[in-house]
Amino acid sequence: MAEGSAEINQCPPGGETGISALAALLQLPFKPLNPDYGCHKPKQLAFIIEQDCIGCVKCIAACPVDAILGAAKFMHTVLADECTGCELCVAPCPVDCIVMIPTAVPDSVTRKAQSQVAKRRYEARCLRKEQQAIEQAERVKQKKAALAKVTFKP
Ligand code: SF4
Ligand code: SF4
Repeated sequence: MAEGSAEINQCPPGGETGISALAALLQLPFKPLNPDYGCHKPKQLAFIIEQDCIGCVKCIAACPVDAILGAAKFMHTVLADECTGCELCVAPCPVDCIVMIPTAVPDSVTRKAQSQVAKRRYEARCLRKEQQAIEQAERVKQKKAALAKVTFKP
């Protein structure tokens, strides 16, 4: 939208509430949700069938708000209070042990507060990822520098 290449009605999770908010913010007329981008669903949460989880951590990598707890080769679980119901963790799971379950629809105040929390968590995750990438690049640089000092004798 900022680049002028997307319309205000392309976000199924936001639904009509989201479109109205965007229309008001950008001073544009309301448009119904474009079905090409999916349909709006009732609020839902991810749930991990823990006995089937193999601890591959693929869901953790996919979750944009760090709402999944677990470690490699250990059972994972979803932090229900933090899950936005975006479904991004479902497809990466190799054993299909993540299911989406419907949950109560919060009132508009709660919904707004939840959006702000999700935004903060997403931004914190982005910062952490950036920091990890910088640290990784530094480790690679140091390794290369160390290797360059090694003289191989035939
Ligand atoms: S549904 Fe979205 S927010 Fe919830 S755990 Fe999965 S990826 Fe995270
Ligand atoms: S992607 Fe599925 S199997 Fe892998 S850690 Fe997550 S829930 Fe467990």
